[in-house]
Amino acid sequence: MKGDLTELLMISCEKAAKLICEGLDRPLSFRERVQLRFHVTMCSACKAFQKQNEALLQLFEQRFRKLSASQMEALSEEACERLQRRVREAAEAAEDPSDSE
Ligand SMILES: [Zn+2]
Repeated sequence: MKGDLTELLMISCEKAAKLICEGLDRPLSFRERVQLRFHVTMCSACKAFQKQNEALLQLFEQRFRKLSASQMEALSEEACERLQRRVREAAEAAEDPSDSE
C-alpha cells in the first residue's frame, strides 16, 4: 500500500515541535526519533527550532543553575511553548506556495 510508511513518518510541525521539547525531558522512542529525524530533514523551520531549543536549554542550564528543578521546568516549558508558537508561524509562512513542484 502506497503511503503507509510515509504516513508513519509524516508528522505535523506541531507534533515535531512537541517531540523536540519532550526529547529534552525523556528519551524518545525509536519511532519518535525516526519521525522527528525525517521531519527535520525536510522542514527547515523545525530544524531551526530544534537547534534553537537545544541552545536555549543549554543557556538555561548555565544561567539558571541556581534555580530549583521545578523552576527550571517551568522555564523550559514556557520557552518551549513560545518556540512552538514560533515554529508554527514559520511553518505557516513556509507554506507559501513559492516552490511548488
Ligand atoms: Zn516542521
